[in-house]
Amino acid sequence: MTADVDQAPVVCIGYGPAGVGLAAALTDLGYQRKQAAKLAEQAVYLERQPEAGWQPELMLAGTDIQHHYLRDFGTPRDPHTRFGFINYLHAHNRFYEFTQRSGYPERVEWDDYCRWVARSADGRRYYQTSVQAVREDALSDGSGPAYRVEYRDEAAGSNRAIVTPAVVVATGYTAYVPPEFDTADPRVFHSERYLTSVAALDSPRSIAVVGAAQTAGEIILDLRGRFPGATVHSIVRNNGFSMYDLGHFVNRAYWPQERAAFATYPAAARAEVYAGQARTNYAAVDPDVSTALYNDWYRGQVLGDQKFHIHIRSTTRLLGLDGDRLSLMITDRHTGHHRERLGVDAVILCTGYRQPAVPEVLTPVADGFAVDPHGDLVVDATGEIQNRDAGNPGSGIYLHGVAERQQGIGSAASFSLLAVRSGDIAESLLTATHPLAATTSV
Ligand SMILES: Cc1cc2nc3c(=O)[nH]c(=O)nc-3n(C[C@H](O)[C@H](O)[C@H](O)COP(=O)(O)OP(=O)(O)OC[C@H]3O[C@@H](n4cnc5c(N)ncnc54)[C@H](O)[C@@H]3O)c2cc1C
Repeated sequence: MTADVDQAPVVCIGYGPAGVGLAAALTDLGYQRKQAAKLAEQAVYLERQPEAGWQPELMLAGTDIQHHYLRDFGTPRDPHTRFGFINYLHAHNRFYEFTQRSGYPERVEWDDYCRWVARSADGRRYYQTSVQAVREDALSDGSGPAYRVEYRDEAAGSNRAIVTPAVVVATGYTAYVPPEFDTADPRVFHSERYLTSVAALDSPRSIAVVGAAQTAGEIILDLRGRFPGATVHSIVRNNGFSMYDLGHFVNRAYWPQERAAFATYPAAARAEVYAGQARTNYAAVDPDVSTALYNDWYRGQVLGDQKFHIHIRSTTRLLGLDGDRLSLMITDRHTGHHRERLGVDAVILCTGYRQPAVPEVLTPVADGFAVDPHGDLVVDATGEIQNRDAGNPGSGIYLHGVAERQQGIGSAASFSLLAVRSGDIAESLLTATHPLAATTSV
């Protein structure tokens, strides 16, 4: 790869909520400490999307957020933050209007809040830049080891690189497409591409939705409103849509002290604790969505015109084409008995996301890292990846939002701990022995 090369004190890969959270934390610290202000200004954020946004493909009308709005980009870390949701409301003259409404904020408002923080925080943001790899390198003045972050500048059509002593990986999870749906047919798509792909469907008569978590539920409801004449087949592995575990005590998993307790367990015990927390966030829907789905199904029973079919304890696979339609086999998950062959016009895979054992961008440097018995990278309390060499443990690379199995369920796909985690990384960057101040900014 030939590239123009710059230097920066820290490079964050990904400017989704985790990257934005780091920028907010560094900016807040910059009001208190000169060194932090410099770091906040010189930090580089590389984001492959053309702009900052939160789950743009699933910005469905009427959907709300799943966490308390005070668990925002700043308040849990420091109530004096510039980046709290309340400050956002004031800045947009909606404080009284907001406090008069009921329920959780809609997702569209949280997205707008995310964008406001993304553009208000300090730092150098480069959009349409896709990071390809992180490799070992050295700072140009010889002051220490460093990494070379190689990326593609999509707008300019060129390859570039930044040399830095510290890297934060905030790339989120990878969409999971089951191998039985690995096809180039655009009518078979993962929910991460929902709004773009559904807009391309031409008057579908029948659609299959695979999966039974919140996204599947929301998409079914959206499809029922969008295509009222179409039949929706929901294919679920278990007994139907379960609800999140909303227990007050188990949801302490999203508190900082539970994250700290989780970290003290050996890897085998962590897996057990994690399994007990999983239903707070995965493979389930919230009460609103469960009620709406059931009421929609019941209305079909009353009218004698059922357009929402739910295939429980089922697996499915793509057989191929039947004329111009997609042919699916529905199989009993427990007996293997073939139940039904369906012809549909689209298959929407709400099959979730996976935490990569090693984020793809780190493959070239991964050999030097310590791994736990499950193959996951070992991180310290701040998320810094530990080297194999125990005499020199700190690698200078941090996992931010991609270390759920190591740090507990609160450390991944949730805003609850995002501000605190961001603050921990920011503090660690400031106290690290990395020669941050010695580097020049890009
Ligand atoms: C529909 C939906 C609704 C949700 N609702 C909630 C909710 O209400 N509350 C809650 O707490 N959580 C919710 N979540 C969980 C959600 O994942 C987190 O809230 C949040 O988006 C995680 O932020 P992140 O930055 O870790 O990951 P992401 O949001 O995935 O952001 C990662 C960013 O990194 C960029 N990136 C990836 N690879 C590269 C690369 N190689 N080079 C450059 N850039 C790269 C991506 O483009 C992306 O912008 C929801 C998730 C979904 C799918």
